[in-house]
Amino acid sequence: MHTAVDAMKSRLTQIDDLRRAASVLEWDQQTLMPAGGAVARGRQLATLRRLAHDLETTDETLRLVDAAGRETDGRDPGDPDRALYRVGARKVARARYVSSELVGELETHLSASYDAWTRARPAADFDAMRPYLERTVELSRRWAESFPDANHPADPAIAENDPGMDVAQVRALFADLRKELVPLVTEIGKAPAPDTSFLVKDYDVDAQLAFGREVVELLGYDFQRGRSDLTHHPFMTKFGNGDVRITTRVQKNDLTDALFSTIHECGHALYEQNIDASFDGTPLDNGTSSGVHESQSRLWENIVGRSHAFWEHMLPVARARFPEQLGDVSVDAFHRAINRVEPSLIRTDADEVTYNLHVMIRFDLATALLEGELSVKDLPEAWNARYQADLGVTAPSATDGVLQDVHWYVEKIGGLFQGYTLGNVMSAQFYDAACRADSSIPARIGTGDYAPLRRWLVDNLYRHGSVYDPNDLVQRATGEALSIAPFVRYLKRKFGNLYSLEFESPAGA
Ligand code: ZN
Repeated sequence: MHTAVDAMKSRLTQIDDLRRAASVLEWDQQTLMPAGGAVARGRQLATLRRLAHDLETTDETLRLVDAAGRETDGRDPGDPDRALYRVGARKVARARYVSSELVGELETHLSASYDAWTRARPAADFDAMRPYLERTVELSRRWAESFPDANHPADPAIAENDPGMDVAQVRALFADLRKELVPLVTEIGKAPAPDTSFLVKDYDVDAQLAFGREVVELLGYDFQRGRSDLTHHPFMTKFGNGDVRITTRVQKNDLTDALFSTIHECGHALYEQNIDASFDGTPLDNGTSSGVHESQSRLWENIVGRSHAFWEHMLPVARARFPEQLGDVSVDAFHRAINRVEPSLIRTDADEVTYNLHVMIRFDLATALLEGELSVKDLPEAWNARYQADLGVTAPSATDGVLQDVHWYVEKIGGLFQGYTLGNVMSAQFYDAACRADSSIPARIGTGDYAPLRRWLVDNLYRHGSVYDPNDLVQRATGEALSIAPFVRYLKRKFGNLYSLEFESPAGA
């Protein structure tokens, strides 16, 4: 029988197909495409995205979604058809709020802004970016005003990436976390730094790639339904349930850059590869939010990949590939080296403790720009003041300061950064819940057996795809609302041990 849900699903799949096809073009653009393909590729991507947007905003699509809403009315929120309706209806409503003129204006402006940024960043020329960023702030505000239910100009952008969340929730969480992190960074800064010299010896590029491949295969990445390729800025992408790809980059004089970014992307991919196969081709076939996604990349990269237990098993594996470089390095020394804490200028190179301070600085400044509390001309000064206050460092120029991340120069601002820290916070909460359910997990990691952890994650998170919004998913999986306590506890225990420091337990620990 052909139901209203079937009709909606078929329409949403057409839209999804156009977007996934664009992702294939994007993947190619960032891995294999010759530079000469850039202009045609930009046009082709714009065409596919416009077709997807046009189809998503037709009255017919709205009618199909509404009919499926009536048909599934009263069903359990976890019912996949009801969830598909909810996610589909939300996407359609959001797409219809924003005028196509504004979408076009944003796209044209942001592509010019990105182009200017690629020159301004190496030249440390913030003044060149000022007019672009002023316009981006203005367009971002107008975009936010298109949404009738927003309490704050950053709310619609946050809701787009982290559904069900808003400025108020994120701000409260970040304020509490910052209070814990700043003194932690100060205390660790007084302790002697570990030796990291063996991590930056000469490491053969092909051997590094083979090692990374071995590691992610052990973690559970399925190469039958994926592949790994080289790129400049590693990412994970999905074309369908049976095709989830990761990318990586390698530096000859750095063992950790390729390794941890490969594990990071593998974490994103494990989530996507383990979503219920019946959701294939629908909007449910995606991780539910940027925060939950990042919780999985960071859980595998940091909580597992930078743990002592992980290297008890993995260091001998690494030593077999790099006997000269790692032959006389102990697990303790390796563990200390890969967890070195050091306040630095660059977010993407930051350690687990300081990383979130970088994120909060961006989140606070972006919301202040949108509120009109901060003007673009005062942004570099505000940036430097916060870096000095939170991390005790000041960028010598805008290159490693306010111009360092591409985000503000290629996207509308407001919803881009919170997911990174939400992910770190959630990663510890999820891991705690997994270990409560199966106390053998940490010991099994020490023997190279990741199946018990993966099983819990598949059962409680991965398979659901986008059925549950992040706040609901956290509550269902852990039995508690989202909280910073497990993450703070994790950092204090781990880095207290590593740096022989006594940290007071946080409330509720
Ligand atoms: Zn990530």
